[in-house]
Amino acid sequence: MTAPGAPLELARRDAPRPRAGGAILETIASEVCGTDVHLHHGRLSGVPYPIIPGHVSVGRVVETGGPLADVEGRPIEVGAVVTFYDVYGVCGSCWHCLVARSATRCPHRRVYGITAPASEGLLGGWSERIEIVPGVRLVPLPDGLSPEDFLGGGCGLPTGFHAIERAGVAMGDTVVVQGSGPVGLNAAIFAQLAGAPTVLVVGAPRARLEAARSRGAADTLDIGEVRAPAERVRWVRERTGGRGADVVVEASGNPAAVPEGLEMLRDGGRYVVVGQYTDGGDATINPHRHVNRKHATILGCWGYEFSHLHRAIAMMAKHRNRFRWSELITREYPLEKAGEALRDMERLAVVKALVRPAAGRA
Ligand SMILES: [Zn+2]
Ligand SMILES: [Zn+2]
Repeated sequence: MTAPGAPLELARRDAPRPRAGGAILETIASEVCGTDVHLHHGRLSGVPYPIIPGHVSVGRVVETGGPLADVEGRPIEVGAVVTFYDVYGVCGSCWHCLVARSATRCPHRRVYGITAPASEGLLGGWSERIEIVPGVRLVPLPDGLSPEDFLGGGCGLPTGFHAIERAGVAMGDTVVVQGSGPVGLNAAIFAQLAGAPTVLVVGAPRARLEAARSRGAADTLDIGEVRAPAERVRWVRERTGGRGADVVVEASGNPAAVPEGLEMLRDGGRYVVVGQYTDGGDATINPHRHVNRKHATILGCWGYEFSHLHRAIAMMAKHRNRFRWSELITREYPLEKAGEALRDMERLAVVKALVRPAAGRA
């Protein structure tokens, strides 16, 4: 991806060699997500174009720069099928890392496929090989978990997990999820696993809402059909004894969802904003009604840490048959058709799409 708006270009590079403590992966597949569409529109700041997109990927280890181990200390050998925490460069010595202890805000943090310049190596999954730089943690997929299972969750898996952790969902809570993209669907899944018997999903289009219902959402509301926010709020209140939900998770990306979601929240409830990953503009809330009198807790949720990825994969390995993440993959594309993948994602024709670099090759 050379620049915002420019067609994607295929480039040929020399096969990389691992640095000491690093590794080289042969890419099995890499996800296509809404972030890639935002990158192509130039809507994220600080992106060092040209970049190789693809921040969440699965590959086979083909070479290592010395012995490698997973976080439990088990060796990772050549041939292992792994994903990895896509963040590198977190310094561990700045104010954000040491004092605030929020590594996701470290100014040195870089992310594969997003803030990693192509000039520094194969640091994105839309590539036949991925260079794992020293310090990046590999996560072998557990037995029984396929690359398709994991990538069907994609970056929405740890992001949705993080949002539910932030929300502090308690057993018995009713949870509303605004947005039915991969983050919203994963938030709806993890809300149930965290103990919410009733999860309501407000989103579009219909296929995504069906995906939510077939994964345990008690009910869904199509915002394409019910267009008035006040009616959507009434729909939630009718299902929550008139009070509103204990927890509302915003995973829509639309700023207008925030005041609407605060209306869906019960007094004393918790509201998590995870969908505003790019600057979609301003929204107006009423501080008296939405925050103070409501006694609301409002939380932002930025990125995810290794812990969320690790624990979300453990949950997925246990619950893969119940939630069938792999079935969220609607289409796969060879590298040559990555531009088409972006267009399909943009018009919401797919729930989750994969780029499979080896597809169609000998
Ligand atoms: Zn730092
Ligand atoms: Zn993503």
